[in-house]
Order: sequence, then C-alpha cells, then structure tokens
Amino acid sequence: MTIAQVIVDVPTMQTDQPFSYLIPEEMLSVIKPGMRVEVPFGKGNRHIQGFVIAVTDEQEQFPQQELKYLIHPLDLAPVLNQELLALADYMKEETYSFKITCLQTMLPSVLKAKYAKQIQLLLPESLPKEWQSFFGSDTVVPYEEAVNVMGVALIQQLRMAGTIDIRYLVKKQNRVQTVKMIYSCVTSENYPMFAQMIRKGAKRKVQLLERLTQFPKRTLQEYLDEGLSRTVINQAAMDGWLRLEAEEVYRDPYAAQTFAKTTPLQLNDEQAAAVQALADANQSQTFLLEGITGSGKTEVYLQAIANVLEHGKTAMMLVPEIALTPQMVERFKGRFGEAVAVLHSGLSQGEKYDEWRKIERNEAQVVVGARSAVFAPLENIGLIVVDEEHESSYKQEETPRYHARDLAIWRSNYHQCPVVLGSATPSLESRARAQKGVYQFLHLTKRGNPDALLPSVEIIDMKQEIVRKETTTFSRILQEKIQDRLNKEEQVVLMLNRRGYSSFVMCRDCGFVLPCPNCDISLTLHMDTKTMRCHYCGHEERIPHHCPSCGSEKIRYYGTGTQKVEEELTQLFPEANVLRMDVDTTRKKGAHERILRAFSEKKASILLGTQMIAKGLDFPDITLVGVLNADTSLNLPDFRASERTFQLLTQVSGRAGRAQKHGEVIIQTFNPEHHAIVLAKQQNYEAFYQEEMQIRHQSDYPPYYFTVKIIASHEQEEPAARKMFQVYREIEHVLSSQAKILGPTPHAIMRIKNRYYYQIIIKYKREPQLANYLTELLERSQMDQRNGLFLSIDKEPLSFI
Ligand code: ADP
Ligand code: ZN
Ligand code: ZN
Repeated sequence: MTIAQVIVDVPTMQTDQPFSYLIPEEMLSVIKPGMRVEVPFGKGNRHIQGFVIAVTDEQEQFPQQELKYLIHPLDLAPVLNQELLALADYMKEETYSFKITCLQTMLPSVLKAKYAKQIQLLLPESLPKEWQSFFGSDTVVPYEEAVNVMGVALIQQLRMAGTIDIRYLVKKQNRVQTVKMIYSCVTSENYPMFAQMIRKGAKRKVQLLERLTQFPKRTLQEYLDEGLSRTVINQAAMDGWLRLEAEEVYRDPYAAQTFAKTTPLQLNDEQAAAVQALADANQSQTFLLEGITGSGKTEVYLQAIANVLEHGKTAMMLVPEIALTPQMVERFKGRFGEAVAVLHSGLSQGEKYDEWRKIERNEAQVVVGARSAVFAPLENIGLIVVDEEHESSYKQEETPRYHARDLAIWRSNYHQCPVVLGSATPSLESRARAQKGVYQFLHLTKRGNPDALLPSVEIIDMKQEIVRKETTTFSRILQEKIQDRLNKEEQVVLMLNRRGYSSFVMCRDCGFVLPCPNCDISLTLHMDTKTMRCHYCGHEERIPHHCPSCGSEKIRYYGTGTQKVEEELTQLFPEANVLRMDVDTTRKKGAHERILRAFSEKKASILLGTQMIAKGLDFPDITLVGVLNADTSLNLPDFRASERTFQLLTQVSGRAGRAQKHGEVIIQTFNPEHHAIVLAKQQNYEAFYQEEMQIRHQSDYPPYYFTVKIIASHEQEEPAARKMFQVYREIEHVLSSQAKILGPTPHAIMRIKNRYYYQIIIKYKREPQLANYLTELLERSQMDQRNGLFLSIDKEPLSFI
C-alpha cells in the first residue's frame, strides 16, 4: 500500500513525527512530497492541513484498518521541492522550532493564508466536452467542488496542460492574471481558401484576415480595439483561421520603469581577483568579501553572477530589506533584464506570488531579495551572495529564529556552489572565521570609482559645544558646512541616530513618565498623529496636558525626534528644501522609494533621516554627511553596542563623496575618545576588529563563545520565573564547568503585551550534550503550553537584554 507521510498542522500539539495516511486510489499519481493535503485528525476526525514529506510503499507494516485516508491535496503541484524539504529539517535543528513552523515559513504568504480557493478555466476550448456543463457559463468553480466532481487526477492533468489554474481570492483580486492571445493559423497555402469563405460585403472578415496575415501573435484586445467583434473572432476560430490562448501575465511592479542596459565595468585588480576567486570555486565554499564603502562590491557580485549565468546556472542575492532600494533593483535589472526576480516586503502579496512563480517555473535566473528570499525555489544555483552580511535584519526575531546567512551557506552546500558574504564592516563572527581560514578572505581596499576619494571625517565634541550655549542639535561647524553646501547647490545627508532612543513625555514637577498599560516601557511621542504610542504592543492614547500623577501642567516632551530637528533645520536654513525619512514618513507603501527618488532628482538639498538612510544611497552630489548624535546606540546595554555604532557610522559616512566631488563627514558625539568613534573616523575596520576582539575576549563574549538564550513567558510573573529556575537546575547538570550561565533574570522589559518574560543565557564553547537537552526541553514545553506557559530558544541571540 502507498502511504503519505504527513507533518500535520495542529498548533496546540506540535510534533515533528510524521503521521501515515493512505492515499486514495484515484490520487496515487497525484500526491507528491512537498504538497499540502487535508487529512482527518484525532478522535473527531477534524479536517486539518499538513505537508506531505514523503510517499512510501509499505508492506503490511500497518494493519490497514488503523490507517485513515487523506482527504485531498490542497495543491496540484508541490509547493516545496526536495531541497527545501531538506532545508526545513536543518532549520528545525538549527533554530529549535517545530518542523511545521519551518515548512510554513518557507511559503509565500498568499499560499499560507486561508483564502478561498477556486479553479479558473483559462481555455474553455480545450476543456473535455463532458465537463463543459459543469463549468457552464462560469469560468470559476470552487476548488473543493471541482475536486469532488472531476477528481484530482484530471484536475492536475488539465492544469499541466494550461487549461485551468488554481486561483486564490486575495482581496478580490485574481491571483493568476491572464491575457487572451490570438495566434494566426493563416498561411500562404490556406489563405485563398479562407478568402473564398468570406461573403460579399463582410468587411470585418476581410479586415480580420488581413490582420492575421500580418500578425502571427497578437492580443485579443488589440483586435477588439480595431473594431472587430468577439462574434467575428469566435467564428474565425471555429473556421480554423486562428487559435485563442490564455497566457499568464505577471503583475510586474517594475513594469512602468525601463532599465537602461548597463555593461560590465573594467575591474580594478582587487575586484578582478575577487571575481576570479569566485569563478574558480567549483564547490561549496564560503567567502568573506570585505570592501570599504564604494569599493565596488556590487560590481563584483554582478560580474560573478554573469559568469554563473553563462554556465547555465542561477544566482541568488540577499540584501537587507532597507537596502533593497530602487537603485539596487535598477543595477540588477539593468544588467540582467528579464532574468531578475525581486522579492521584498514592499510588494503586494499578489506581486510577490508572481515573482515566486517566475522563479518556480525557471523563468528567472537571478533572485534579488530580502531575508525570506533565501527560500526562493531556485534550482541549479551557481552562486549565492549575502550583501551587508553583518545586518541584524537577516535574523528573524520570531520563531523560527533562523539566520538567512546560515541557510544561505546550507544551500551553497546542497548546490556545491560558492557563497559570498559581503560587507564594509563584517560581523566579528564572520571576520574571525575568515581569520581562521574557515571562510576565504577577499579584500577590497580602494574605491571602485578611481576618481572618488574617501571622505574626510571630523569629530565634534558636543560637550564643548554645550558650553557655548548654541543650539543643542547642530554644532557651529556643522551649521557652517551645511550653509556652504546650500550655497554650492550640493546635497547634504543628516542622520539622527534613533537606535535605543525615543521621545517621551515627562512631568517637570514630579518626574512622572507616561507608561504603557500593557508593557513595562514608556510611551513614545508621535507628533504626526498627535498621540502617545507603545512600540511593543501598539497601544495608543492622547498626549496628556496635565500630569496624570500630580496634576501639574508642566508636562513636556523630551528627546529629539526627527520632526523637531526638521523644524530647527527650517528655522536655521529657511531657503533649504528638506526631505524627512523615518518610520512616520515611510509607513505607506512606496513612500521610501518616493523620498529617495525625489532626493536623487534634487528636489531637496537636505535629506534628514534615521539610520534608514545609512544604506544603499549612491548619489554623486552628496558632499556632506552629518551624524547628529553618534552616541545613543553606544549607550545600549548590549555587548554589540560598539560594533553596531561602528557599523552605522561607517555606513553613513560612505554616503559622502561617491563620485568626483570630495565628501566630508561630521560626527557629533559626547564620547569623542570611544574606540568605535575614533576608528570610524579613521574608517579603519581592521583596527576596530582587533580592538573589539580583545574586549570580547576579556569578557567572554562572542565570537569567543557561542550563546543561546532560553525564554519563558506567562501572563503572570511567577510561573515564568519558576520555569526558568527549573531549567537552570537541570542545565547545571548538562553543562560542563567551562560554560557560563547568566540568569535566570527578567527580560530588560519584563512585561510585554501583558506577558512576563524570564530568561537564561548560556555562553559555551563545546557542549556536546546541550543540543539534545534543548530539543528535549522544547518537546516537553508542549505540556506547559496548555497552562499558558510558552518557552522559546534563541540560538545566537542578537542581544542579551
Ligand atoms: P559598494 O557596493 O562596495 O558600496 P558599489 O558597487 O556601489 O560599491 O560601487 C561604488 C561606485 O563605484 C559605483 O558608482 C560604481 O559604479 C563605481 N565602480 C565600481 N567598480 C568600478 C570600476 N571598476 N570602475 C569604475 N567605477 C566603478
Ligand atoms: Zn507630575
Ligand atoms: Zn505596550
């Protein structure tokens, strides 16, 4: 008997063991690994979803009566291929999460949501006669009804032939969009015969026949636009003059743009060496490409990808969401045109699905996308690029807490192809691996454009500025330099470092700060909506005019929001046009791109923004970059605070002077002697790496130690705390004396969304028992879930707080 092994989707009872289901006779040819199916489950035979991970032939191992039949497939073709099924296994082990969660995570969101599913008739002409009455005059029927009446095997066949397709009702929008094409069947041989068929005076027929001799393939709409009726066209189809076909069109978000074709640049020696090293790697190998900002890393990727395409292979390039700017897309589409599929969160669900389909059907050979693009169903991969590999957004902050970099390396292993991690400021972990020879080190030390010089960087000690009692936001020097650029009609980028920073309301009489009722954190002031908002749970309330604690009216807001800086800026420089880019101005779809486009078209001379602006901008007229407050991110209670600050300052400095004009950077700080700031001024990553490694070594931090965080949460404080103390006692026996346990402690923000969080952090070097213990701990935690206690495991957490 043939059995489907199914991972079922039961949120309250997750298990990584597949369940066996019999496959009904008529579905034997249909069911394949990687498809989703509906199966009966539990005592009540409730219908639930699951993933088929294998189809096996079993000999009498099961008494047949104990097995249930699966009900029907939810897909007509596998949504995950063999490679991605195997990747799910790896991800599960790496991230300590349940397999079903991993499988779900890999799918495009259109497929995940529970939308109504329908069968859409694309080509009524090729539908077998006996089913024509079933569809009647409709072109859509509900999926389940079609499966029941026609049988899945036939439906699958018709789908492969292009007669029908599945569509999902996403916001009343057709999932698959089609356009009707007319193929001409007219040849010089049959032309006279067709011409004879035309009755005298039938002008439209004459016109149609003429057109058919001119256009072998044309859309139906074009014929209709010329005044030909559907009746005439249908009649002609029956007479054999033409063939009507429905062709799928993709919703292409970039359709309106044209991309000027670009040609490969003449590489400098360092770039050429990097491209060559990648070309020579004919097996799985990880490269670290460290190159200063503007050193032409992107050009290296482009040429390395071109090499791979020439060998008939495909390529994947991951970019942090925020760096996936129109400029970046343009560079790829400009070089590779139609071969490029772009996946990022700015696309609608339908658009994203279309891009995914293009990849699945091998119509796109180059995928450019953010974190989840690592799951793109590309086959025959020849190169994987992870640009800005140090970016924390590559790690998903919810289960499964995967790091796209790790999954990219796994896929390079599967495809036996190189993977290149690129950055101007590599993560210490990656740089250390390159040091040890685990990764092969490639280094670009010069700017790609030989005319572009590194910008000069100046540090302003804001402690001195305060003494002078001038504006607290803009130092005197920065004001002068901005004025100078305005006079010269050059462009200025100003960054307000908002990491770990917010504007809040405080009472001057009693010091009261407005807290969130659900979380242990103060509310943030949002001037655009004139509300106080919680950044964790979204709670929103009005700005108070009196102190809720003492009734005083002296309740003021503190902190420098971008809006406040913008006001100051327009007062200081009334003639300047300022564009602002922060969470408030980029909430709407496409807003981010609009602001960048306006700036590139020089509609403004100053771009003011948060760290969002630090990446991906490549405009020739930016000659001044100002960092208004370098320190806020330094003060975070996090061992990566220096690393993050150094990265941010280097990135933003790299925006200046990328072309002929010389660039200048002004960094305002209260900590002018801090090594992250001094070395960012020197733009000396290597020196920063050395110094920071010593600090990490002294305090036993990564990359000298591996880390894992275990978190328990509950609506009450006590059960969460109790659980973590229990884990602590167990884990003491599991670990060797070399490991260090921090905690149990409450999370820095103990209560979030009315749940209390407790955690333990383990620092370790080699603990062979640990992985098994954690897997078992997770399995056991399912019992606790019924009592509202949730446990999660975060391997290599981004922060300790
Ligand atoms: P990165 O990705 O390292 O920041 P880019 O690839 O964006 O650098 O290159 C920075 C600038 O230098 C771009 O304008 C690019 O066109 C230019 N550039 C890169 N390589 C070369 C080269 N070999 N010759 C001339 N210009 C180059
Ligand atoms: Zn008060
Ligand atoms: Zn809250």
